[in-house]
Formats: sequence, structure tokens, C-alpha cells
Amino acid sequence: MSDPIHLQQVSKSTVAAIDPRLASNAAAIILDDFIVAVDAGMRPFAARLFRAALEDTYHRPVKYLCVTHYHHDHTFSLKPFKDVTLFASSQIVENLKNSPDWSPEAFERWKNDDPLGGDWLDEVEFIIPMLLFYQRMDIINQDKTVEFHLSGGHTSCSVYGYYPDEQVLFAADLLFAGKFPFAGDGTNDPERWISTLKTWLKMDIAKVVPGHGPVTDLDEVRKQLEFLETMKHNTFEAIKAGKDFSEIDLPSVYPVGEKEKWFAEKTQKRFYEYYLKIQS
Ligand SMILES: [Zn+2]
Repeated sequence: MSDPIHLQQVSKSTVAAIDPRLASNAAAIILDDFIVAVDAGMRPFAARLFRAALEDTYHRPVKYLCVTHYHHDHTFSLKPFKDVTLFASSQIVENLKNSPDWSPEAFERWKNDDPLGGDWLDEVEFIIPMLLFYQRMDIINQDKTVEFHLSGGHTSCSVYGYYPDEQVLFAADLLFAGKFPFAGDGTNDPERWISTLKTWLKMDIAKVVPGHGPVTDLDEVRKQLEFLETMKHNTFEAIKAGKDFSEIDLPSVYPVGEKEKWFAEKTQKRFYEYYLKIQS
């Protein structure tokens, strides 16, 4: 038997699951008659434990699961939630279909690199969420409403959730708490990401569940906004000076260790492409 997934209380009726076996954060809103989950991590066996923890603790079913975007660490896990209404922004379909994460070569690579061994990869199934929305989707149960908004930014299909009654934001990968954010996706839109963070700063938010890192608050949003704006400034400087993308100065907001090097390089490349296009 595997150890259960611990559910961390975020507010009266919201929880977060922050566990290395999930590889990215999962969260949930416990409504009167059912549960709405936000992501389920990467590994199917861990997602199954997450679902069991929710349903065993709260004695009601998970009825909806928001797939916040198409990255493998948020979509490889979906099989144990196949009977649940999986929903996402409509843009996820194209992104999933074009994603290099699902190729046989990528699977070989995940298998070799996974610190928990790669056996769980055999259970990974390509699942397209069945319920798609364009700008916003609300889930209503009795007198409670949970909002989901398409923002783009981290990826073109990135969605965040908001539970206004308890001022909780489910940021997914639009926020990497305390770490270098991955802004190197081919559909990454830095301007939309920056404007989303600015929108959050004007909202009534007490707690933020990020896609990676611990539960946090708006101070972390300010910090990541500083990172993105400095990165933008440094990118323009590099373009003006005729430098290569790899010469863009990385903001000192977050440390860049061995693990973040790949993130950093992809992020420099994407910012360069993006702002070069805007300038011309
Ligand atoms: Zn991501």
C-alpha cells in the first residue's frame, strides 16, 4: 500500500495536494454535493490516491476536474478520473494534438529520467477533456459558485480557477511559487501572462495554490510579475544590442540551479522570438 496523499487545508472548503509523487500540484473545492478538482498531477497512481483521499475524507464524489493546461505533468495523470467530467479551455485540443510530450521518443526519455522509475508510464492514456469552454466557465452547486477563466500566458490554453466565497485562487502554472517559472512553451504569451498577474493583484485573494511550490499569497504573484517584467526589459535590451537569445540577462528574482537551466534557456528563447516579432 502506498502512503495516502495528504490534503492540506487552504480555506474552509478548499484543499491542496502538494506531493512529489504528483509532480505538480493538485487542488479541490469541496461543495455541498460534490467536489471540483483542479488538476491531478502527472502520475496516474498518485492521481488515484488524490481522488481516494478526497472521496474518503468528504464522502461525496469528484464530479468535475479542471485540466488547467496541456503540459504532461498535468495531463499524464487523467486515467483515474475518466468517469469524471474533465473540462478545459477549447484551445487545449490543438495543443494536446501538437504536443511533443506524447511521442514514443518522449516516453522513452520520461521512463529513463523518472526518479520513481517509469513503470507508471504504462498506465498513461491520451485523454482529451470532454467539456470545453472559451472564456469562462462557472460551476454552481446550491448557493456556491466556482469560476474558471481562460487567461493564456504560460500556454495558450492556460486556465485559472477562483473561489470568491473564500478568496482562493487556483493559479496552476501561471504561478511557480519560489521558483523560476517555465515561460518557454511554444504557445507562451508573456504579455497575456503579465496582464493576468496584474488582474489578480486587483482581485480579492487571500490564498493562492500555485502549479508548483507551496501554497502562497499575492506577495508571490508580485514577485513573479517582477520576474516577467524584468525578463521582458532584458529581452528588449538584448535585441537592441544585437545579442543572441542566450545572452539575455536572467532576472535575479529566482535562483537558476542545474535543474532550472533547461527552463531558463527555453524561456530566453521564447521571450526573444516573441518580442522580436512584436518589435518588427
Ligand atoms: Zn505547465
